[in-house]
Order: sequence, then C-alpha cells, then structure tokens
Amino acid sequence: METRDRFEGVNSITFNRYFQSDDDCYRYLSALKWTTDNPYKCKKCGYIKYGKGKKPYSRRCTQCNYDESPTAGTMFDKLKFSLLIAFHIVFKISTKKKGMSSLELSEEFELRQKTCWEFKWKIQQAMASSGQFPLQGVVHVDEFLIGEYEAGKKGRSSDSKKRLVVIALEILKDGGVGRAYAQVIESASAKEFKPFFNAHISKESKVITDVWKGYLPLRKEYPLLEQMPSNKGANFQQLHIHIMNIQGWLRGIHHHCTKERLQGYLDEYHYRYNRRAFMGSIFDLTIKRMVLNNPIRLNNSTLATAT
Ligand SMILES: [Zn+2]
Repeated sequence: METRDRFEGVNSITFNRYFQSDDDCYRYLSALKWTTDNPYKCKKCGYIKYGKGKKPYSRRCTQCNYDESPTAGTMFDKLKFSLLIAFHIVFKISTKKKGMSSLELSEEFELRQKTCWEFKWKIQQAMASSGQFPLQGVVHVDEFLIGEYEAGKKGRSSDSKKRLVVIALEILKDGGVGRAYAQVIESASAKEFKPFFNAHISKESKVITDVWKGYLPLRKEYPLLEQMPSNKGANFQQLHIHIMNIQGWLRGIHHHCTKERLQGYLDEYHYRYNRRAFMGSIFDLTIKRMVLNNPIRLNNSTLATAT
C-alpha cells in the first residue's frame, strides 16, 4: 500500500498551490521513486544506507558516495527547463481534454517549440498502452485513413501520404461506449491486424467488423468474431463518431509526421479517452509512468516537424 501524498484533480489553482517550487516537484518524484515496495538501493554498489545528496531530495550512498537525484533514470532526467515547468506541461497535457500542441506550450512557457515537442514526445511514450487491460464484451473494429495536413494549407494532401489505422471500441450493453485503442498499420491484412488484436482485444470478446475478408483469419483466435455490412457506417455508428473525433483533433494540432509520431498521438488520445471517468488521478498516474519508464532517446527518424 502506497502511503505517499498524491496530487488529485484537474484544477489549476489547486495545482499551483500544491507545486510552488522545484523542491516540491523533487519531493514528489522522490516519494514515487523510493517506496516501501521499492526501497532505496545504491545503483553503483547496492548499499541501502544513504545521506543527503547535492540536489533537493537526492540520496548519497554512505558506502561509495554515489549521488542519485530523484530524476536520474526517469523521463525527467537532463531537462532543458525547470522541473516545475515540466510538471506544469505534464499537468496540461494529461488533464486538458484535447491536450496542448508544442506551439501552444512554447508560447505559454516561453520555451523553444522544438524543446516542447521533444518533451511532449516523452510524455506520449509514457502514455502508450501497457496492453494489460484488453477490451472486453462487444468490440467494434474498423480501419480508417489519416491524411497529413500541411501547415497553412487547408484540406488534405495526396493519397500516398495517408496512413492507415486500425481501431477498436467497446460497445456497452446500453449502447454507450467504453474504452478504445488504435494502431498505425501498413495494410488492411490479417498479418497487420493480428498484433493489434492480440495486444488490445480479449479473445473472449465478441468482435464485430465489416465484411472485409482481411479479418476472417482472426476467427481462429477470436471464435466469436462476426461480420456485418457497414451499411455506410450505420451499423458502426459509435465507432464512426469516435473516428471523426480523432480526425478532428489531429487536424487541429498535427501537421506532417512519421508513423511513430502518429502512433504517439493515437496513444495520447486514447490514454485520456480511456480514463475520462478518472481524470482526477490522471496527472499522478502520468508522473508515475514517467518515473518508472526509462527515458526514450530521440533519433533523427522521429524528428519530423509536428506540433
Ligand atoms: Zn553505493
């Protein structure tokens, strides 16, 4: 049982009161990093006794003197701005219904857009699904295309620049919607669908797709899979509304981007969407994921221009 103090809620006034300085943020990270379940142990020599280190809440090994900051080995390591600003950015992106683009972040926090973009990419990595809670019950599945939107131009670019996405949405007994996941794929084939199904849909669920033959081989693993004509979307109304919402959101904030980056946006969207009933704890969860995950190195292939 964790006994640490957690920040709850989506109210920015409460947030500003709770986190007033870098010190407050270091304290928060240290309580997440070293817990009763995962107590302090020196990274260099394995010793368990420590004294005060250089930075706030750092721990210095009393045997070998190795000084470990609460940010070391987390996604908050080697930031180009203060930890307090990083907490503000995580708060905005996780609690605002539509998140925030790197352009908006750079204006609000007076940082370079590229700096915001790189940090946002880390947050999106932390928002990727763990794959531990597959969709259950009735699950509608379909594919759709996402075009690339060039800055300053309205409408879509050519077909060759569009990317294919497979998407699954839980349909509740009362006709409402549950959770959803989406993944960028190369083609609408069983080979591409399978890893997505295996990661995100329970084998006992009743999957319903349109009559596209690419889904048929999945019946081996998903015996309850059914197909029905889309009827111009009428039979998959909730899913089509969900897809339109994603497309609308992407059009607003997202310009040209790579396959990996698009997956980051889909993960960010569904991370918030799947927790819409638990927004009060979403900030703490995001920080926790960023502490426990290792920082992801950006390489040139992922450095496309996006917001
Ligand atoms: Zn040590």
